[in-house]
Amino acid sequence: MRADGVVIVGAGHAAGTLAAGLRQGGYTAPIRLIGAEPLPPYQRPPLSKAWLKGEADPAGLLLRPATFYAEHDIDLRLSTRVAGIDRAAARVHLENGEALPYEHLVLATGSKLRRLAVPGIDSDGIFELRTEADAQALRARLGPGVRLAVVGGGYIGLEVAATARGLGAEVVVIEREHRLLARVASQALSAFFADFHRAKGVTLMLAASVTGFATTAGKVSGVMLASGETIACDVALVGIGALANDALALDAGLDCRDGVVVDEHAVTSDPAIFAIGDCTQRPMPRYGRSVRLESVPNALEQARQVVARLCGKPMPAAEAPWFWSEQYDLRLQIAGLSLDVAKTVVRGDPASARFAVFHLDADNRLQALEAVNSPAEFAAARQWVSARQVIDPARAADTALPVKQIIESVPGVA
Ligand code: NAP
Repeated sequence: MRADGVVIVGAGHAAGTLAAGLRQGGYTAPIRLIGAEPLPPYQRPPLSKAWLKGEADPAGLLLRPATFYAEHDIDLRLSTRVAGIDRAAARVHLENGEALPYEHLVLATGSKLRRLAVPGIDSDGIFELRTEADAQALRARLGPGVRLAVVGGGYIGLEVAATARGLGAEVVVIEREHRLLARVASQALSAFFADFHRAKGVTLMLAASVTGFATTAGKVSGVMLASGETIACDVALVGIGALANDALALDAGLDCRDGVVVDEHAVTSDPAIFAIGDCTQRPMPRYGRSVRLESVPNALEQARQVVARLCGKPMPAAEAPWFWSEQYDLRLQIAGLSLDVAKTVVRGDPASARFAVFHLDADNRLQALEAVNSPAEFAAARQWVSARQVIDPARAADTALPVKQIIESVPGVA
């Protein structure tokens, strides 16, 4: 092992997990962790939920105590940006002029929020939510009676809508698709979440296109729609999706295609460089294609792959992708990807807020499962998706059968 060790670009969930995992795995060479934000690696999922509500313990947001890095001889550089990668010299150049040599480089640069390019977007009172600082700024403006307009009915928009309702705000969600969660959820699930949010007092405007923000003395006062309507608001949150942070990789000549292209073990087109997390375009043999996943479990899986490689340990078994979201007292868990789906089967009654949607291909293999307040179905489905399990639709729908007995009469297909 050369003394140059590993440089990790990015200090998010993937990067922090990797750095700690390397030390736990016995990696003794230098580890340098470079992050643009001022905080040590922290968890983003609470930012739109408990953290925004003011219920989370600030120290609990951090992945590890701030002292962990020095204690484990990890050189953590915060508020520091990487300017470029010199692959020929195996060096990373920082914006402050410093150059760091590496034996292995890991890009854990994550994703950046899509910007809404409309007039008024830079007005006071318009927020996005990616960082702890964003969450702090938004939290300071939410409260009883505040009129919040949420642009984008995806994960961020709906989680913030639910939290803001809990804080007593009046909430309107504006989504350009005809349904909520259009990128990530089935029709049945979208319809369920729409009904649930409406019942909680959220106004939904679907198939609505934002043309700009109305302002009064530089402060947002409304969201203007293509229909000519203006939705009055005191505060607006824009959550319209995310894009891979792959500029460094592109500039360095690495293969990129909607993310940094990696192999099944997180190796980029340069064998000395890995990429992990939201910034990657990774193969997903289970589905016969490559995908870019925006999820914590994906980031952690790829971090474990790099730990295995650099510590000379066996590669961990591939996992089915999974996702989760919390809104009000609902826990949504999704196993797998809804690709090549020929039929969907609903188990349970959505009106009871406890149900699961099975997504089957033409051969009745389970491609994905969406579970609302149904942890047993989710846990089973994670195994079944990986095993390409054939499911009998009638048994899946039969809630008199315990979850594990759904597959009793049908042998699994490897
Ligand atoms: P998202 O889940 O992709 O949802 C964005 C939604 O906004 C999409 O439905 C999108 O529709 C819509 N949209 C796009 N342009 C719009 C416009 N001009 N006006 C109105 N709606 C528009 O992304 P997100 O909610 O912004 O989340 C950003 C990132 O945070 C993602 O990486 C997400 O996975 C992550 N996150 C995850 C969780 C979780 O997993 N629980 C929670 C919070 C955040 P189109 O599909 O047509 O673009």
